[in-house]
Amino acid sequence: MTDSPYNVIIIGGGVVGLGVALEITRRFPRRRLLLIEKEDRVARHQSGHNSGVIHSGVYYKPGSLKARLCVSGAAAMIEFCRQHGIPHNICGKVIVATQEDELPRLEELRKRGEANGLTGLRMIGPEELREIEPHAAGVRSLVVPSTGVTDYAVVCAKYAELISGNGGTVLTSAAATGIKRSASEIIVETTRGAFSTTALINCAGLHSDRIARMAGDDPGIVIVPFRGEYYDLVPERASLVRALIYPVPDPRFPFLGVHFTRRITGKVDAGPNAVLALAREGYRHTDINLRDLGSSLAFAGFWRMARQHWRNGLGEWHRSLSKSAFVRALQRLLPEVGEDDLVPGGSGVRAQALKPDGALVDDFQFVPSGKVLHVLNVPSPAATASLMIGKAIVDTAAANLGLA
Ligand SMILES: Cc1cc2nc3c(=O)[nH]c(=O)nc-3n(C[C@H](O)[C@H](O)[C@H](O)COP(=O)(O)OP(=O)(O)OC[C@H]3O[C@@H](n4cnc5c(N)ncnc54)[C@H](O)[C@@H]3O)c2cc1C
Repeated sequence: MTDSPYNVIIIGGGVVGLGVALEITRRFPRRRLLLIEKEDRVARHQSGHNSGVIHSGVYYKPGSLKARLCVSGAAAMIEFCRQHGIPHNICGKVIVATQEDELPRLEELRKRGEANGLTGLRMIGPEELREIEPHAAGVRSLVVPSTGVTDYAVVCAKYAELISGNGGTVLTSAAATGIKRSASEIIVETTRGAFSTTALINCAGLHSDRIARMAGDDPGIVIVPFRGEYYDLVPERASLVRALIYPVPDPRFPFLGVHFTRRITGKVDAGPNAVLALAREGYRHTDINLRDLGSSLAFAGFWRMARQHWRNGLGEWHRSLSKSAFVRALQRLLPEVGEDDLVPGGSGVRAQALKPDGALVDDFQFVPSGKVLHVLNVPSPAATASLMIGKAIVDTAAANLGLA
């Protein structure tokens, strides 16, 4: 064990753990900070397997943490990218209603966006949609000009570089395997030795509920992994999409529905869907982890969720296993797209907190426990909001964690 204790250890080298670490090293440069990451580099999981969208904040309930931290976080992310020369593009997006019965929900999104302080939102008809996205079709669309794209793996690498530059330590290939708490210190056992600290912040993403239990706390939720699979448009058909084309999301789920994204590299992909994964880091259908599966199946909330949403879940599996079903869903937004235009792309796994009553936790959730803070639910738009999540956590928890 190291003989000089840390002031704070952060578990998890994703965009959230790194965002929190960056804020701490900026605000408290004299504090000793250690961030541990089990993989050999940062951003190996959700933060390096996402759509790369800088969300504007149009979707989220006014007053929620998601709404507040996304809107301010998007501005901070754009400024961060500008400052550090990270490629980004504020390309705007369209949310397209393809059926009349989606119009009230589209209007609700406009109201939410305005309540969240977004400017420039406007409703357009089919002709104007074709001026923006010549191949998209819909009865009415909401234009969101402030949405953009970047590459969050690059953002994470820059966060890590700045943390080290500020005197913090980012230790990779170090998995937390045990946590011992006493009145005066916390010992974090890892595959690279044990470290003593006064305070601990759990940003372990897909494993955050397990880390909470390791620290002796009952998280009250279980993390359920939802895989998001992408198809890529073949390069010669990438011109079908200029920027970002989204459907009107189903309000019962925290996912946005399969959409088209022109990434910062210029590549266009379609997805992600939301399939229950059989492993927390299960990027393929064939990835099965019995421990992960067991922890979902043993949780009463899982069965309550399954009873409520089995029909939708089966639909997602069907679209996952059948390319033609996936393509049919996409053709609602882009009628010209065909099966031959798409090739299998990457995938990502979302960490979604599930409550005992079967409800999917919607808002970000930060749970303090003495000198430990658990970040238990930080789904999309947490990459966008990461700098502001760091700031919010430090603003509210610094005193409790003994940092201030
Ligand atoms: C398919 C998909 C698309 C998305 N699209 C967007 C988008 O366009 N825009 C947006 O803003 N958000 C998006 N998101 C959401 C965003 O990517 C996540 O909210 C964000 O990356 C969460 O960051 P995190 O740091 O909490 O998790 P992660 O990036 O998963 O990081 C957690 C880290 O903890 C480490 N860890 C776990 N256990 C241990 C342990 N025992 N010891 C040490 N380390 C450990 C893991 O290895 C991992 O690196 C998307 C997510 C997915 C999956």
